[in-house]
Amino acid sequence: MEAVIDTLRLTAEDAQGLVEHKELSPAELHAAYRHAIAQRDPELHCYLRTIEEPVGEGIPIALKDVISTQGVETTAGSKILAGYVPVFDATVAERCKGAGLTLLGKTNTDEFAMGSSTENSAFGPSRNPWDPTRVPGGSGGGSAAAVSAGLAPWALGSDTGGSIKQPSALCGNVGLRPTYGTVSRYGVVAFASSLDQIGPVAKNVRDCALLYSIIAGRDPRDATTVELPEQVTLPTDERLDGLRIGVPKQVDGLTAIEPGVRAAFDQAIARARELGAEVGECDLPLSFEYGMACYYLVAPAEASSNLARYDGVRYGTRVDGSTYREMVERTRDAGFGPEPKRRIMLGTYALSAGYYDAFYGQAQRVRTLLIREHRDALDKFDIIATPTAPTVAFPIGDKAADPLAMYACDVLTIPSCLAGLPGLNVPCGLSEGLPVGLQLIGAQFGENTLFRAGHALEQAIGFDTVPTRYR
Ligand code: GLN
Repeated sequence: MEAVIDTLRLTAEDAQGLVEHKELSPAELHAAYRHAIAQRDPELHCYLRTIEEPVGEGIPIALKDVISTQGVETTAGSKILAGYVPVFDATVAERCKGAGLTLLGKTNTDEFAMGSSTENSAFGPSRNPWDPTRVPGGSGGGSAAAVSAGLAPWALGSDTGGSIKQPSALCGNVGLRPTYGTVSRYGVVAFASSLDQIGPVAKNVRDCALLYSIIAGRDPRDATTVELPEQVTLPTDERLDGLRIGVPKQVDGLTAIEPGVRAAFDQAIARARELGAEVGECDLPLSFEYGMACYYLVAPAEASSNLARYDGVRYGTRVDGSTYREMVERTRDAGFGPEPKRRIMLGTYALSAGYYDAFYGQAQRVRTLLIREHRDALDKFDIIATPTAPTVAFPIGDKAADPLAMYACDVLTIPSCLAGLPGLNVPCGLSEGLPVGLQLIGAQFGENTLFRAGHALEQAIGFDTVPTRYR
């Protein structure tokens, strides 16, 4: 049977149904995605590499290139890892295989997941399927753009300060950054270990929940993981009666939020009210005032330590020198791009003797205050809602020369990451023809609540995830 498969619309759940009822073979499914990739990826550059001959017989998936895959090169978007072929699978890759999922390829990312546009990838930027002159967000722009353009039914990303939520917002996908500790980081290229989390990117909330249920849970190889306190439930809710949603009052004063983004966000909140939610105002003054500063001390500090392992001996690239020291220096100079170098310097400075307490120590104390502030807000509300990103997708090159402008893309996603809380992006409308994302933040282990609310809102909003130019 020659099935006509519209990969732009097919959800993973539907694909699974078709395969189970033998209306479609896994081979046909793969062929359809490979065809879509051949058609659209030369323009979009979502993939750093694709797998030609799929191993296994299941639903396809794309993995961000920070996830180690046995026998498949893993670069984290960096030249310093070029040619590195892991001899083992990250736990999340192993769990995907265990669930019968088949790897389509590895997706593009800002180098070591440092960035908000994928322009920091050493292998060139990805493009936004809604408008290829614009960025797909970052760092997981490759995964988000691939799902949005029908080049994968779903994908995994990693989120340190917004790298799942923000690209999902800019590409019109559903993306979940899970509660810290629910998904194993074993085999994931480390950026900032106290913040990094792996999570799903999908076309809708149910797929997102399904993929989360596959990857979540305790892993003895990552001591920071825990067993989920409750099973993941696939949402069916249409109403939000009794759900308490808090909108931080600081959102009103944030001038960086574009009017079109604000309008779509306000409409989403109005929908939530219509569905029965009780919407009120919450207060996160410290998060908005100090979140960014705190993150840009904690994350680079941890990065400077994590990136010390790239020494020309253990992985990928080596540039020879006459002494060991010279070899290491030359390797690191040639292998790291500007953003990792900037963060290694910032982080090393923040951790150095005499400055440690003033910078890193102070940031840790601020982080504790942000955790408390979020906990207080989530005592009164089930969910905190904000726009996910202050703007829609911006033109490639717009912020590339201005690190602080790039960092500011994450002003709304970073605080809850520092607090270790889960966050879900749900597309909530268009502004200037480009997707706007709604960020729903939950209490620790509150993923099921996010899925319920996200699903009900998604149904009510009726956002079409297929980029206009492909319809
Ligand atoms: N854009 C943020 C940064 O550059 C977040 C990246 C991420 O979540 N990996 O650090």
